[in-house]
Amino acid sequence: MYKPLSKTLSKFLFILLLGLSVISTITGCETNPVTGKQQLSLVSTSQELSIGEQQYEPSQQSQGGAYIIDPSLNQYVNKIGQSLAQLSGQPNLPYEFVVLNNDVPNAWALPGGKIAINRGLLVLLEDEAQLAAVLGHEVVHAAARHGASQMSQGMLLQLGTQLVGQVSSNSAYSQIAGLGASAVQARYGRSQELEADHYGIDYMVQAGYDPQAAVELQQTFLRLSQDSSQGNWLDNLFASHPPSAERVQKNKERAAKLPKGKRNKAAYQKSIKQIIADKDAYQTHEKALQKAKEKSWASALSMTQQAIKQQPKEARFHITKGRLLNELEKNKEAVNAFNQAVKLEPKYFAGFFYRGLTQQELKNSKLAEKDLIKSNSLLETGVANYYLGEISLGNNKKESAINYFKRAARSGGEVGKAAAGKLQTLGVQ
Ligand SMILES: [Zn+2]
Repeated sequence: MYKPLSKTLSKFLFILLLGLSVISTITGCETNPVTGKQQLSLVSTSQELSIGEQQYEPSQQSQGGAYIIDPSLNQYVNKIGQSLAQLSGQPNLPYEFVVLNNDVPNAWALPGGKIAINRGLLVLLEDEAQLAAVLGHEVVHAAARHGASQMSQGMLLQLGTQLVGQVSSNSAYSQIAGLGASAVQARYGRSQELEADHYGIDYMVQAGYDPQAAVELQQTFLRLSQDSSQGNWLDNLFASHPPSAERVQKNKERAAKLPKGKRNKAAYQKSIKQIIADKDAYQTHEKALQKAKEKSWASALSMTQQAIKQQPKEARFHITKGRLLNELEKNKEAVNAFNQAVKLEPKYFAGFFYRGLTQQELKNSKLAEKDLIKSNSLLETGVANYYLGEISLGNNKKESAINYFKRAARSGGEVGKAAAGKLQTLGVQ
C-alpha cells in the first residue's frame, strides 16, 4: 500500500500541500538526522517512538517470536547493534536488537530503533563484520527516519487522493495507528536503500570493521534473490530491502576508498554455534511444514517427531506436532504437545492459541477461553476473538460476545466475514 511515489507525483503533492495553509499544524520538512539533508516528515519523533513501541511485540510474535534456545546469541547481536547505534546520527533512540526464530533470511527496523534479525539470516553470515553490515544498515533506516518518511509519503498519497481539503493535524494523526504494521513490510525506496548502505558502511568502519563485508553481504543477497530454484519462498524475502547489482557496485566503490578492518570470524562462529548445530532440525521441520501443506499429515508428523528428537527444546516443533495431531483427530495428544510448547516458551502466543482452539474442539470452553485470552494478550488475532465471541455466547454473555465479534470483524478475511455474520444474527449493525 505504501509504495514509494514517483518523484514527480511526490513533488506535485508536496507543492500542493505546501500551498495549503491547513498544513500549518503539520510538520512539513525536517533535517535528516543522519544525512543533514531536508526530508519530508508528517510524523513527529514522539509519534514515531510510540509506533515503534506499539508494534515491536506484535511484530516479533507474528514473525516467529524471539529466539530463546541460546540467549547468549541475542546478547551478542544486541551488543554489536548497540555499538553501531551509538555511532549513528541519533544515538539516543531506545535501540533494541532481537533475534527472531524465523527461517527466512531477513532483517527489519521499526521506527524508533527496534531492530530484528532472523535466525535464517544469521546462519548465512560468515563473520561479525557481515553482521555489522546488516545491523549498520538497519540502524540507518531507524536513525534517518526512513519509516517515518515512508509513512509520510503514504499519508500524502492518501491525503492527496482525498483532495487534501479537510486536512488537519488531527486527521493525519488518526491515520497513523494503522500504519505501524505496514511500516515493517514497507518497501523502502531505492534512494533509502542506497542511503542505508552508505551510512551503514560509515558506522561499521568507525566501529573498526572491514567494509568489504558490506560488499559480500550484498553479493549474497543478490545471489539469493536470483536463485530461481528457491521459488515463491523468495517473493517476500528481502521485500523490505530489495537487493540490486547497483547496490553491490556502490558498496564496492565505497569499500575501496576506506581502510580495512576486523572481521571477528571466530567470535561470530562461536556465537552462532547453536543455530548451526540445529540447522538440520530446522530444515527437517521446514520439510514437515511442506508435507503439511500437501495435507500429508502422517508423513509431516513423522518428520516433526524427527525434528523434535534433534532439538527437543524448540517449542515451534511441538506446536507443529500438536497441529498435525489435531488434523489427525487426536486432540488429547495434541493438547499434550501444546502443553510442552507452552512450558518451553510461555511468552510465545502460538502454543496458547492452538491449544485454545483444540480445547474448544474438545468442548472444554473454560480452558479454551483462558488460553485464547492469554494468546490475545501476546498477539491479538481475529481467530482468537471470534472463538472468544462464541464462548461468550455459550455463556450467555451477549455484550462480551458482541465486543469480541466486533474486534474479529475488523481483522477482515474469512474470520472477519464470519464475525460480521454473527453480528448480524445478534442484531448489531
Ligand atoms: Zn534496507
